[in-house]
Amino acid sequence: MSIRSIKDLNLQGSKVLIRVDFNVPLDSSGAITDDSRIKAVLPTLKYAIDKGARVILMSHLGRPKGKVIKSMSLIPVARRLSEILGISVSMAPDCIGASVKKMVDDLKVGDVLLLENLRFHIGEEKNDPGFAKEIASFCDCFVNDAFATAHRAHASNVGVCKYLKDKAFGFLMMREVEYISKTLETPKSPFAAVIGGAKVSGKLEVVENLLARVDKLIIGGGMAFTFIKALGQSVGKSLLEEDLVESALKIMKQARKEGVKFYLPVDCICGPEPKAGVVPVIKTIQEIPDNLMGLDIGPATSTLFTEAIDACETLVWNGPMGLFEVDEFASGTTAVSDAFASSKALTIVGGGDTDAALRKTGNMDMIDFVSTAGGAFLEMVGGKKLPAIEALEE
Ligand code: AMP
Repeated sequence: MSIRSIKDLNLQGSKVLIRVDFNVPLDSSGAITDDSRIKAVLPTLKYAIDKGARVILMSHLGRPKGKVIKSMSLIPVARRLSEILGISVSMAPDCIGASVKKMVDDLKVGDVLLLENLRFHIGEEKNDPGFAKEIASFCDCFVNDAFATAHRAHASNVGVCKYLKDKAFGFLMMREVEYISKTLETPKSPFAAVIGGAKVSGKLEVVENLLARVDKLIIGGGMAFTFIKALGQSVGKSLLEEDLVESALKIMKQARKEGVKFYLPVDCICGPEPKAGVVPVIKTIQEIPDNLMGLDIGPATSTLFTEAIDACETLVWNGPMGLFEVDEFASGTTAVSDAFASSKALTIVGGGDTDAALRKTGNMDMIDFVSTAGGAFLEMVGGKKLPAIEALEE
């Protein structure tokens, strides 16, 4: 893979357009509750400023789906970034248009401008060439430092590349891509992937791709119930994607064919509803009552998964084993987190919830590499080429 880094660009005096991931969590008052995504791109931003660039930042926030939604404005991010950088970061009223162009043209060396939420325009997610061309027309070169969106072909990470000849990876993107692709090129065996989270949709293709790479696939979380259903068990009120049962069965057959050990929960901790305060009940997978839902893997499964993890040399994890935000249903996720932390294997973890689970269990520092991305991380681990990376390589 031939990759150009921001260090390969001539930034002095240039208007450099940087795609970042400022999709930060906000509380009901609009305050940022976790600014780690802002801090993650500081090396790239500081480098560009130090090299005398005129910096134009762009990001999405939330899912406004082409509409201007005030609560999804990036204004709080511009404020927070100003505090962190110790310089005034100006905020554009939009990400395209004559007034934005004027603000870009007025930037002086070392100035930073943040464009308003890209997804206020439908053209962003549709990768509309006109939209991409207009954003690109403001600038001289492009840097992508938003690994978390690299699996999507949007205007701001794929479309703009067609119109800007000079383009490169930022430091965060480079670190993620190099680490994940290089270490997983020739992973030490046994290699296990632990996949959890609520939904199967969006992850089935990844699970399928992983079959070619791993020795063990360990499935937990709500998504496990679609696989359990595919084995003919009833799952009560547990999360289930009925339309994917057939595909889940196919994947398990494929795993058997390829000699991949496929682990599913053998018991689960159930509750009547996915919320705090309900009484947790342990049930075997064969005996989930119709009026309960599986909200965590059970104690026998925690032991099983821990054993399977312990014997590995390479470990990848994405997605919680249950409703870990609620203490009654956090023990399975804690068990996997602890097993990763105490393992001698190379450990690679990705995804916002998984990151939160590591923090909650105090195991963050025990993991070899924690990715800032979820979907992009999983797709890359599965060996898929990500569109935003391909666009930069062209
Ligand atoms: P995802 O975005 O698909 O990775 O899902 C993450 C969310 O799944 C987290 O908020 C978990 O609380 C939730 N989750 C995981 N397992 C379950 C489960 N068995 N039932 C309900 N929610 C779950």
